[in-house]
Amino acid sequence: MNYYSLNHNAPNVSFKGAVINGLAPDRGLYFPENITPLSKDFIENIDQYSNEEIAFKAIEQFVGDEIPKDVLQKIVAETISFEFPVVSVEDNIGTLELFHGPTLAFKDVGARFMARCLGYFNQNNTNKVTVLVATSGDTGGAVANGFLGVNGVDVVILYPSGKVSDIQEKQLTTLGKNITALEVNGVFDDCQDMVKTAFLDAGIERQLTSANSINVARWLPQMFYYFFAYKQLYKQHKDIVFSVPSGNFGNICAGMMAQKLGLPIKHFVAATNVNDTVPQFMKDGKYEPKSSQPTISNAMDVGNPSNFIRIQQLFNNDFANLKTGFSSFSFSDTDTKEAMTRIYKNSTYIADPHGAVGYLGLEKYELQADEYGVFLETAHPVKFLDVVENTLNQKIDIPADIQELIKKEKKSLLISSYNDLKEFLIN
Ligand SMILES: *Cc1c(COP(=O)(O)O)cnc(C)c1O
Repeated sequence: MNYYSLNHNAPNVSFKGAVINGLAPDRGLYFPENITPLSKDFIENIDQYSNEEIAFKAIEQFVGDEIPKDVLQKIVAETISFEFPVVSVEDNIGTLELFHGPTLAFKDVGARFMARCLGYFNQNNTNKVTVLVATSGDTGGAVANGFLGVNGVDVVILYPSGKVSDIQEKQLTTLGKNITALEVNGVFDDCQDMVKTAFLDAGIERQLTSANSINVARWLPQMFYYFFAYKQLYKQHKDIVFSVPSGNFGNICAGMMAQKLGLPIKHFVAATNVNDTVPQFMKDGKYEPKSSQPTISNAMDVGNPSNFIRIQQLFNNDFANLKTGFSSFSFSDTDTKEAMTRIYKNSTYIADPHGAVGYLGLEKYELQADEYGVFLETAHPVKFLDVVENTLNQKIDIPADIQELIKKEKKSLLISSYNDLKEFLIN
């Protein structure tokens, strides 16, 4: 499969090229040249297939012959080796739990898939790649875990000192081997700026790539979630509406790719916190990026969502068309805490702040009689322990492996400026 840049000013590349480059040289996001729907027969009988078979069918065309079939099958199987259950919350609402992976957040799937693809492309170690990533919390842990021990790939993670939760910090600072954590004296935007500067710095000779949802190998496997949810629901429910707590809009955009592949999805709701660039755009058609505001759903504190351009491409850059298949609403921290309390009171389900924003999206959308709503639970509530316990007035159980993790010793290098980062990358 070939990919073109959505800025239309860079050469087309293969899947391998897109994975290694991350972003096109014209700073555009890569987009597949063709999207071929899967057969009706497959979709209608999807419950006859294993998750491994479904995921392989969904991703196959986007990789093409650049990874041999048996290797890709193995990569897919390793990527999704945990559960993706839809749990009933109300009569017409369920939650798709995406937090059963090793770092308890949905980003595990994309990180594991990308790590294995990059590992395959680099197996002869001829051309060492450094994955450079800035994190506000969840990405770092998933990337560190996914890439641990992958040959030919070094991972450098920048995170803002004192601004990630304890569990998140331990997930990215305790692994060692090919993973280095740089603790930045600053906020997330400083980390992000340093990473962007490094990508443009001709003085750094290492091959750098990104591991956020800009990268096609992290973005595309997120399609799997929607197929797995559909498989569990379609025999009972005809019209399925997904509400996706959104920050960079990679996850929801992957859901729209699943729809392009023929998965019958009635409607998408993108639920955001007060970082409402997209909800505003859906009101007045003006896209005005802002600087991000901190919230209790911090993995969605994004003022200029990078994947929104891919969504517009999927709807042929046609605003009227986009409006028919997609809605977007924004919610405050107060709304979010009230929703967490309401969900818990009504059904004893404990939602994390991101999932609660997704739930609010379904409420606002107002499901019709024959519609079934699914909100995505993108992280385990334990990752946001303080907020969840204080909001619900309730202790939550900490899984045994997280208790082990908390005991481990943190290893990080403190940096304060871009020069510190550059020096680290050069030496
Ligand atoms: C990253 C993240 C999101 C946002 O996902 P996008 O693909 O960036 O829209 C939502 N919830 C959690 C817990 C996350 O880690």
